[in-house]
Amino acid sequence: MESFRCHVCHQQSVEINPEDEGPRTCPECEKLLERAVKEVTERIGNPTPGPGRPHHDRHRDFEFVDEITIKMVPRYKTSGMSGDEWRVASRVELMFKGQVVGSRSFGDMESAAKLLSWVLMSPEESPEEGESLSTKVIRREKGRCDQVGCEDPATSVYLKKRTYSRDGVMSESALEPEYKRRYRHFCQRHATRGDCGLDDADDNYILLAGPGQSGAHPSDESPSVFGGILHLAPK
Ligand SMILES: [Zn+2]
Ligand SMILES: [Zn+2]
Repeated sequence: MESFRCHVCHQQSVEINPEDEGPRTCPECEKLLERAVKEVTERIGNPTPGPGRPHHDRHRDFEFVDEITIKMVPRYKTSGMSGDEWRVASRVELMFKGQVVGSRSFGDMESAAKLLSWVLMSPEESPEEGESLSTKVIRREKGRCDQVGCEDPATSVYLKKRTYSRDGVMSESALEPEYKRRYRHFCQRHATRGDCGLDDADDNYILLAGPGQSGAHPSDESPSVFGGILHLAPK
């Protein structure tokens, strides 16, 4: 037997056999988790917003635009006055999870490429369609995998145990109070989150619905070139 810090409160120590896989949670936190899972599972299927309903928690790597294309688009101009001709414009399309959420046209490829960073900084000014980029993103995001760059439907829903800041500092427990409860969902391919991160790691999630982990797709696995991440737990 070995002694570990509880995963959730990081205070109580837990005696377990180190060969045992599985969560290292103290009995007190285990009880809180059980209750939260029950309550959240009931509410997650209920579309009515309200107190106690868990928030969807965007992934830390979230991007409003995850793909950009620039292409020349021909247009046949007709005019009784000056005659008809083919005109072209360079069209920048901003995509999110496989759908166009914003666009802007320029005279040629060079202008489009030069002004790309400006388009990205002010995508909401994209004038062509009435709806704002963020509204389109929110609609497209619903029910889709939280892995950045994946557009597949989410099949597994996880409750987050805790929320960590980017530098690994633990903030409040995601269990209590109710309004702090957050969930994420992933498709089958991305249901396994790995053991390296803190905020987005298998150990920080509890399966609420769906099949859960099933092993990453073999072609997705590649050794990191950056090495490891230092785990910092408060004393
Ligand atoms: Zn605990
Ligand atoms: Zn996915």
